[in-house]
Amino acid sequence: MTGACPECGGELKFDSIHKRYVCQSCGLAVTREEIDDIRAKYVAANPEEEKERRRKEYLKWWTTKK
Ligand SMILES: [Zn+2]
Repeated sequence: MTGACPECGGELKFDSIHKRYVCQSCGLAVTREEIDDIRAKYVAANPEEEKERRRKEYLKWWTTKK
């Protein structure tokens, strides 16, 4: 999944010249692999937050199912 900056949550736009996603808010420029890498590190550092995120995602899925 792309679209949100792993650093600040801003909008990412793909730069086809540099083959990188550039954040419109903080200017972070990352490749797809780097986004996954940063997210994985963030999840490892914030396991509780990830649990909460998954719970919310499940709730969203559950409520849209009906
Ligand atoms: Zn950003």
